[in-house]
Amino acid sequence: MVEVSRQYFAASAMALAIPGLAAPGTARAADRIRLGPTSPSIYRFERGAFEVTMLLDAAAMIDGPWPIVGEDRPQTEVAALMRASRLPESRFRPGFTPVLVDTGRERILFDTGNGEVGFIKRPEGGRLVERLAAAGLNPDAIDRVVLTHGHADHVGGLMEAGRRIFPNASYVIGAAEYGFWSKDERLSASPESYEHVSASVFRSNVMPLAERMRFIEPGAEIAPGIHAQAAFGHTPGHLAFHVESQGKRMLIWGDCAHHEVASLAHPEWSALFDMDKAQGAATRRRIYEMAASEEIVVAGYHTSFPSLGYVARNGAGYRCVPVSYQLDV
Ligand SMILES: [Zn+2]
Repeated sequence: MVEVSRQYFAASAMALAIPGLAAPGTARAADRIRLGPTSPSIYRFERGAFEVTMLLDAAAMIDGPWPIVGEDRPQTEVAALMRASRLPESRFRPGFTPVLVDTGRERILFDTGNGEVGFIKRPEGGRLVERLAAAGLNPDAIDRVVLTHGHADHVGGLMEAGRRIFPNASYVIGAAEYGFWSKDERLSASPESYEHVSASVFRSNVMPLAERMRFIEPGAEIAPGIHAQAAFGHTPGHLAFHVESQGKRMLIWGDCAHHEVASLAHPEWSALFDMDKAQGAATRRRIYEMAASEEIVVAGYHTSFPSLGYVARNGAGYRCVPVSYQLDV
């Protein structure tokens, strides 16, 4: 405490000595500068020998969570759940959270955010490189980029103006996912649809990287301790990734939830962006059940930043227990 007090008084004295920095309480109201709200955008922790950094690519307040979650339910039902959870009924801020895992031997980035062409445009979206810099890394420090699926908010950050953002990286994607999005018929979706946007971003951002790309099946080992798991339904080849080091585990589940309250409470509710609704719902229930029974921490791309939590059973559904200090002990 003595140290803290000394530092405090030293800082106060310094503030008083700097011209223009008035002591608290002495500034006239008109001179006060509003500093504005802050929100965290990087979060780093350890899992065994691995260092993991959550990186917020986009922070946009949008309409929802209905119909993004619960499109098959009345809007009032989703609104009531939000209200009961003390959340706004019709506005929400999804996470867009790529995950960097530094195994000690290589730095592996899971998903790349919106970039310049994704669903959330700049300045709200496409901030991954900036977040990496804040975390102390340049894009050339990334050894491998792993893609959970081909949607534009996950692959948008692979390229910028036709150039690779991660010049030293190799790439990993599900073979089924690549096969699906690279088919020409994907472009026959209506031009305004998100399917068409993803199909065209896949052509500009993913297909030019094919020579550097490894195409995997569920079960594949990405690196020692990191394995792919099938999570099909959101897209035909959507993958989750199980990460384990020295007995410490984590599940990177991509888009198995679009809202940490609504998706978990009702895994059976249809998700607007799921390409196969029934398979998406079945996958959610299976993955949530695994996360709940195995008490494993989850990185959920679209859950609120830092997009980390545990899953607990709750009635016929589940609930999210956000991470606070569990990962620090
Ligand atoms: Zn997504």
